Amino acid sequence: MLKDKVAVITGASRGIGAEIARTFAKYGAKVVINYNGSKEKAEEVVAQIKAAGGEAIAIGKNVADFEEAKELMDEAVNAFGRLDILVNNAGITKDTLLMGMKEEDFDKVIDVNLKGTFNGMKHASKIMMKQRSGRIINMSSVVGVQGNAGQVNYAASKAGIIGMTKSLAKEIAARNVTVNAIAPGFIQTEMTDVLSDAVKEQILSTIPLKKMGETKDIAECAAFLASDHAGYITGQVINVNGGMI
Ligand code: NAP
Repeated sequence: MLKDKVAVITGASRGIGAEIARTFAKYGAKVVINYNGSKEKAEEVVAQIKAAGGEAIAIGKNVADFEEAKELMDEAVNAFGRLDILVNNAGITKDTLLMGMKEEDFDKVIDVNLKGTFNGMKHASKIMMKQRSGRIINMSSVVGVQGNAGQVNYAASKAGIIGMTKSLAKEIAARNVTVNAIAPGFIQTEMTDVLSDAVKEQILSTIPLKKMGETKDIAECAAFLASDHAGYITGQVINVNGGMI
């Protein structure tokens, strides 16, 4: 499905990003595993992909940094010759009610999630527009669509990603580059492992399918959006959330 495509996945050292990288490689893509701090985990993902017969490298860059995001795309092109797919997946949370939210908690989440996605789109779209083909997939969240108490900063970043996705899709459709977002519901990863059992129970009660999602649920959706099968889909937000909305 993705044979010989070159994909950069930001925040792919663990969780959803790591699963997307393994899935893309399974479908034949050459993948760049981006990470920020978790070098060993990123190298583990590379090793898993190579052991399964795929091609992968790890590149450590902070996506919130404009220049480092450019270096990430340039190094991917140097390694594999082109750039077909970018998944802007890197993300963080700093949850607390607005009353207790510090200015730096707001700024940091916006910097990584929203600015990081802008940085990735900015540098990758330039390469893809020249190629006259490409796929950009941005990781939003059900929280960006519905809001959530204690996540004003995160919701702002994830709602902002939806606005950027729809806008850039209109700007570069004529160059055969599609831009879509995935809005996951509650997926079992380190990001959600920190939630208390009581919060998890409360969340489960709001999910019609009555279970948390798995990383593969998001990865298979991303693979479809990255593939030729999704060539006529752009500017969309795909909700993968067990029926929450
Ligand atoms: P996770 O397990 O916490 O992993 C986050 C990933 O982002 C890690 O690989 C981390 O790398 C990377 N990262 C963080 N800051 C970075 C930076 N400045 N530059 C580059 N990479 C950075 O998170 P997850 O649950 O897999 O979530 C992945 C994405 O899905 C996020 O955008 C998240 O908001 C979104 N999402 C998740 C859920 C869910 O339920 N899990 C629901 C909706 C949306 P290092 O470890 O190397 O720092």
